Amino acid sequence: MVQRWRDVARASGLASPDGSARPTIFAEMTALAQRTGAANLGQGFPDSDGPAWVRDIAAAAIRNGVNQYPPGRGTPELRHAIAAHQLRHYGIELDPEREVLVTAGATEAIAAAVLALAGPGDEVVTLEPFYDSHAAAIAMAGATHVTVPLTPDPDGFRLDTAALDTAVSPRTSIIIVNTPHNPTGTVLSSRELQLIAAAAQRANALIITDEVYEHLTFDGVAHTPIATLPGMAARTLTVSSAGKTFSLTGWKIGWITGPAELIEAVTAIKQFLTYSGGAPFQPAIARALIDGDADIAALRDSLSTRRDLLAAGLRNAGFDLIMPAGTYFVCADARPFLSDGDDGAAFARALPERVGVAAVPVSAFCREASTASQALAPWVRFTFVKDERTLRTAVERLRGLERTRGAVQR
Ligand code: GLN
Repeated sequence: MVQRWRDVARASGLASPDGSARPTIFAEMTALAQRTGAANLGQGFPDSDGPAWVRDIAAAAIRNGVNQYPPGRGTPELRHAIAAHQLRHYGIELDPEREVLVTAGATEAIAAAVLALAGPGDEVVTLEPFYDSHAAAIAMAGATHVTVPLTPDPDGFRLDTAALDTAVSPRTSIIIVNTPHNPTGTVLSSRELQLIAAAAQRANALIITDEVYEHLTFDGVAHTPIATLPGMAARTLTVSSAGKTFSLTGWKIGWITGPAELIEAVTAIKQFLTYSGGAPFQPAIARALIDGDADIAALRDSLSTRRDLLAAGLRNAGFDLIMPAGTYFVCADARPFLSDGDDGAAFARALPERVGVAAVPVSAFCREASTASQALAPWVRFTFVKDERTLRTAVERLRGLERTRGAVQR
């Protein structure tokens, strides 16, 4: 048993090679920030809570006896609200009874879908960098993880289209499409989505998405669910959640939608992961999805301002960066500040002591020694989903960062 776990741990990075649980990079950096009093621009969670009126609905639900197991698929009210949201924003038509499943956040939705639909011998393709839980889900399913780099260029982190053609093959059972993308902030363009769709069709692969930042895009950039591309609804499971949209990340209300047959398979797994959860939160999120557009717009505007503040501050301090079109995050190239032999991981681990700011190395979202991890080794991710005071403090402190001697002046 333990040997099997160690093999999995080694192969997947789910744990340390000796089998001990390893905190995620986010937990590690938050702990480090707390220990050192650093401004925490590492873990991406808002430091102010979502709309009071939404929280009031949940509080009233707790007081009024909505405290036992909700239906395994989610309350009918929430499933209808999710279907209505998909129709109103994207024109996607869903049967709330058979094509919508409520989950414990997007993380559970993706894990359940991968466990249901991939196993040993199957390849699951993701972009690289990738969100840590996607790799963990693939490892837990015993499938093989194959990646397609997002490459930094003047237009942003863009899909390596040649690598896509090589990565997706008849062995591919699933392509996980995360857009808006964590950690890069890339919103995939329609051309990139079309290429991924065509690759999925050629390989007869399914798509599982991660669209949790669907509403958090900037400069008028629009998010397009890949399920809306011609022919794609039949092979796509669309995943999102309320956490980022309504600044309620601890509520863990997510959902997965798509063809009834696939949702049935995901439900079979999901019922033995958490069974169900979040009873008092479900009516609150149902209302938020219907009546929360003004709150979403306000969050998007304020986030866009905070993105600009942090990006300007980082540039001022001497970082090169790629402006994100969405999400909570901006990635910056730390090369001017690296000592000989150091990479972004060493930089991020030292930064709280050095100037009192915490960040996350982009290599934490990469596989060891991959093409992407080599290209992105000096990059670090900062979050701007913090109040302006924290951002200003961080920016002020980063200005005190001294360039290393060997650093190339740019
Ligand atoms: N999604 C958050 C981030 O990318 C982290 C969530 C977590 O800590 N697992 O920072």
